[in-house]
Amino acid sequence: MIAVLSGGTGTPKLLWGMKEVFSKFFVVVNTAEDIWVSGNRISPDIDSVIYALSDIIDTEKWWGMRDDTFITHNMLKDLGFDERMMVGDRDRAVHIIRSEFLRGGDSLLTATKKLKSMFGIKQDVFPMCNEDVSTFVATDRGKMHFQEFWVVNRGEPEVMGIDFRGIDKARMPDEVEKSLKKSKIVLIGPSNPVTSIGPILAVKGYKEILRDKKVVAISPIIGRSPVSGPAGKFMASLGFEVSPRGVADIYGDILDVLVVDERDEDYEIDSVEILKANTLMRDKDSAIKLSEFILDHV
Ligand code: GDP
Repeated sequence: MIAVLSGGTGTPKLLWGMKEVFSKFFVVVNTAEDIWVSGNRISPDIDSVIYALSDIIDTEKWWGMRDDTFITHNMLKDLGFDERMMVGDRDRAVHIIRSEFLRGGDSLLTATKKLKSMFGIKQDVFPMCNEDVSTFVATDRGKMHFQEFWVVNRGEPEVMGIDFRGIDKARMPDEVEKSLKKSKIVLIGPSNPVTSIGPILAVKGYKEILRDKKVVAISPIIGRSPVSGPAGKFMASLGFEVSPRGVADIYGDILDVLVVDERDEDYEIDSVEILKANTLMRDKDSAIKLSEFILDHV
């Protein structure tokens, strides 16, 4: 059994290919970017994983559902209500169901299980924890929620620090612990190492379990920049080189194998095996090819 740690863009792209290639895997997803918007709980990374595994993700933007409409969002705006994130109508239906489950007393794990089953997904999809964790970014314009930084301020403010609020009280759910302990290999997908994988590894217990596993990461940094998103800015602000080497430095001693892009320079990193592959997933075919590479080499 393979465990996959996921954020919201690069790893869902990989999962889109993995589901065609691997017979069994489960996914543990970052929830530190979750936020309540217009009365509903958005779990952006869980949504992207569910939509990628059910082949309905918008493969232009890599968030939300393909062919979604924005009638409710536009109506809210017309009425003068400032919904700060663009939320599609179909996407919102999922947020409403999740929120109703939570209001009815379900944990986030139970709500996620029910949701992924509604989409007919075979693989387990787990939140990293049930407790609320929120990523706050300290910037030259003040401290703000990750979504405020990235969506409202378009990632422009200078970054001084990052804080996962609530992480001390976060616990690895029992079911995740059981599944992780049973898995031989843990794949860290090509997601933001600071704000997507960082929170998962910061929840008590994950690093300890991962130390006994073969941990394989796919670098989200190709050359000297991320394929998308603020990973480069965050890595630099924390003093890490924006490169696959910087990714390896962040993962530290839990990392055994790093898959870098075939266009990258040759890296030698102490106690880390380096593999080269085409890690740029432009379409489903390239996501499948990368998944096959992982299956063959890992
Ligand atoms: P965020 O967008 O930075 O919040 O982070 P996510 O974890 O949600 O996903 C974005 C990460 O996925 C970025 O660091 C990207 O570089 C990475 N990514 C997106 N597409 C690809 C791809 O095709 N290949 C690789 N290697 N990384 C990718």
